Amino acid sequence: MGKLYVVGFGPGAGGCLTDRAKDALEEAEILCGYTLYIELLRPLYPGKKVCSTGMTGELERCRYCLEKAAEGKTVALVCSGDSGVYGMAAPVLELAPGYRNVEIEIVPGITAAVSCAALLGAPLGHDFCTVSLSDRLTDWAQIEKRLRCAAEGDFVICLYNPASRHRPDTLRRACEVLLEQKSGSTVCGLVRNAGREGESWRLLTLRELMDAEADMFTTVFVGSSSSREIEGRMVTPRGYRV
Ligand code: SAH
Repeated sequence: MGKLYVVGFGPGAGGCLTDRAKDALEEAEILCGYTLYIELLRPLYPGKKVCSTGMTGELERCRYCLEKAAEGKTVALVCSGDSGVYGMAAPVLELAPGYRNVEIEIVPGITAAVSCAALLGAPLGHDFCTVSLSDRLTDWAQIEKRLRCAAEGDFVICLYNPASRHRPDTLRRACEVLLEQKSGSTVCGLVRNAGREGESWRLLTLRELMDAEADMFTTVFVGSSSSREIEGRMVTPRGYRV
């Protein structure tokens, strides 16, 4: 019986690792993941066998880990943030029925919404939702529908995968949809490279967000109607009368 840990790691090398995640990475004989994360981890676990693949080799990576675990090895499949949030935990569990003698443990981590929120202040102090703007596995029409519903519900909206080289205009298109219902002065926040070299964050309005630059290392926050800027931090009040 082999073991496969699906571990959330980060953001950034060493930061925000739970004790359980540390134990899993210690115990694993093989560390597997997207090249960037493996390069961040490699110096922390010298001597371990590592296996890295490009961004789009996700299923191949999951199958490799399941096969190694089926051979009796202890394997850690590493994802950024939390392994269940736009991560590898779901595809591993979808493939798992084909590999009977593998014990799978999903080890939680700190997702970008939470680590990036801490840099901005307290943008998630009330109800929020996350929407990924990647149309690689989801139709854009579905993404637009979810954005409209989130705006209608007046959630704080946390946007993952806001843009990439192949789709430089998705953040602008999302802003256009949100502006159908939300004010252009809505408080928003942009966080780039949280916990990593080059970490930066700033506040801006929804109107300004239209022309803001974002990439695949950026997480975007769009406030609810009650989100405010308080001395440079983004805050969504919990509801207490302060
Ligand atoms: N499993 C990850 C999310 C993977 S989707 C998690 O739970 O955080 C990839 C997206 O996550 C990126 O496009 C970006 O929106 C966000 N992200 C991941 N790492 C980040 C970081 N260090 N700083 C800012 N955003 C990050």
